[in-house]
Amino acid sequence: MHQPTTEPRPSIYYNYQVFKPWLPSAHPVQERKKVVIAGSGPAGMVAALELARHGVPSVVVTSELQVSQGSRAIVFTRRSMEILQQVGVAERMTENGLPWLYGNSFYRGQRVFRMESAREDDDRFFPMINIQQQYMEEYLLDACKANPLIDFRWGNKVVKVEQEADFARVTLDTPEGEYTMESEWVVAADGGRSTIRTNMDLMMEGASYEGFFVIADIKIDLPLPTERLAYFDPDWNPGNTILMHREPHGIWRVDYQLPAGETPEEALKPESLKKRIDAQLAMIGHAGAKWEMDWNSVYSARTLTLPDYVHGRVIFTGDAAHLLPIFGVRGANTGFQDAQSLAWHLAFVVKGLASEKLLANHSAERVGAAREIIDEAGKSTRFMAPPSQGFRLLRDAVLSLSLTEEFVRPLYHWRTSRPHEYSHSALNSTGDDNALFKSGPAHGAPPQNVRLGADDFLLDHLGGGFDLLYFTQAAAIPEALQKVVAGTRARGVPLKVIAVGASQPVAGADQTLADADGHFRQRYGVLASGGAYLLRPDQHVCARWLALDANRLQAALNIALPQ
Ligand SMILES: Cc1cc2nc3c(=O)[nH]c(=O)nc-3n(C[C@H](O)[C@H](O)[C@H](O)COP(=O)(O)OP(=O)(O)OC[C@H]3O[C@@H](n4cnc5c(N)ncnc54)[C@H](O)[C@@H]3O)c2cc1C
Repeated sequence: MHQPTTEPRPSIYYNYQVFKPWLPSAHPVQERKKVVIAGSGPAGMVAALELARHGVPSVVVTSELQVSQGSRAIVFTRRSMEILQQVGVAERMTENGLPWLYGNSFYRGQRVFRMESAREDDDRFFPMINIQQQYMEEYLLDACKANPLIDFRWGNKVVKVEQEADFARVTLDTPEGEYTMESEWVVAADGGRSTIRTNMDLMMEGASYEGFFVIADIKIDLPLPTERLAYFDPDWNPGNTILMHREPHGIWRVDYQLPAGETPEEALKPESLKKRIDAQLAMIGHAGAKWEMDWNSVYSARTLTLPDYVHGRVIFTGDAAHLLPIFGVRGANTGFQDAQSLAWHLAFVVKGLASEKLLANHSAERVGAAREIIDEAGKSTRFMAPPSQGFRLLRDAVLSLSLTEEFVRPLYHWRTSRPHEYSHSALNSTGDDNALFKSGPAHGAPPQNVRLGADDFLLDHLGGGFDLLYFTQAAAIPEALQKVVAGTRARGVPLKVIAVGASQPVAGADQTLADADGHFRQRYGVLASGGAYLLRPDQHVCARWLALDANRLQAALNIALPQ
């Protein structure tokens, strides 16, 4: 019998709420579900909220009775905020998080590189915002609870998944014993130690890096701005790297690499933690500052992915699908993109708007994203924690040269999380003008935001279905295009038409966005009326034209929704 802990998790700044378990005896016999989501981490909850936005109900089952312990993910990217805006929690993240632009790298007491992430006038969100994972989960949970399409079940642990031809049978253990539930689809968002992945005997591909890092969240009053701080090869931890991040509520994360051979048990001893944190504070000029430990943990970097995320009726997402190093703020940020992608692909299959080929596409796109991250994160991991003598020699050369030579300093700038561009997606149009554009987001890219007014941006108006951005100054959308739009909608496919460029409402468009100074057209590389972009429900571009006609639009929609 599954007995999740009912003790609130310890924290000096966050009050953990312990929820009541969902018990089968209090509910009627379960009819077959459309989608069961195992896990209520960031990937599971965003998947549920996005599915609901597409009108698909789901049951979220989660083994614990409270949100996750410790800060875990703390840095969220602009693209994550754009996704969180879609599911209605970006405002709370912005209200409570700490935005930032700069990263600093130090070597031998000298700042050798200062990274600035640009924030343009067209961006609603900062490039990065810091907030602890449990707050983000709390906001997502509130949004799930407010959504009648989401049935949220605490204290329900998936112990078995059996597959039939067109559904899966899920066995759940609860504090009063087991029950089973049938579901057309099961989303395995049950985290890095995924029970479902293990029970299905699925092997991940990739590498695990040697070496451990300690993550310690301390409460301390440090008069420093919210900027990333990275220290290489400090006297108190020779050859190793330390990261520091400010978090809300007076918490700082100190993240340091352990000397080779030291075990996690030794590293987490209170006296060991104290010695190292005191040494780090002394090094940054705050020797003797008072601090209190909130939470600590040890991790090691891994670059692993399942080679396919769809296995019959079970689809893996988030950490259950891949394990990525957190350097460069991967993990939760990747999980949001997984969940957003999964939800629309799955929703369109559930609603019968496309065949299961769409799920194969989802898998190919997200495995591609994981592999891209594995390539990039491998580089930053090798810089942070050189895995061999050769890598260490190279890294140390960069460090020492950086004291005097400007040209090597950008090598400190490891690539941070960015949305994968589905440049080779099977859903991209084959007969459009993608290659002829000189600027603007290309095939598979996420959209570029555009400021429309003081508190009004293009992305506030996109998503949830296909969006057609049609650039025109005419009074109406051409009739032939309107016919294709009407036919598409008649099949149940949500398709919004946004006319860009006219000062008066354009007939046949759901919305008209003026573009008096031509900034929008310029950002999208559309020079003349009649150009257009087709965006998928996850907002990524699947077709763009310098001149759109009805046949080309129909062809693009046919490709994007394979039958
Ligand atoms: C120490 C640490 C530090 C981290 N720091 C960062 C960071 O700085 N930046 C970053 O981006 N990421 C970081 N991460 C990674 C980030 O936390 C994860 O990538 C992210 O939480 C993954 O989300 P997920 O929803 O896939 O899985 P999880 O958040 O792990 O959620 C899994 C869910 O499944 C539930 N569950 C598990 N088994 C079952 C079962 N059998 N049945 C039902 N439910 C089940 C769990 O209770 C949980 O709700 C860190 C992780 C750790 C451990």
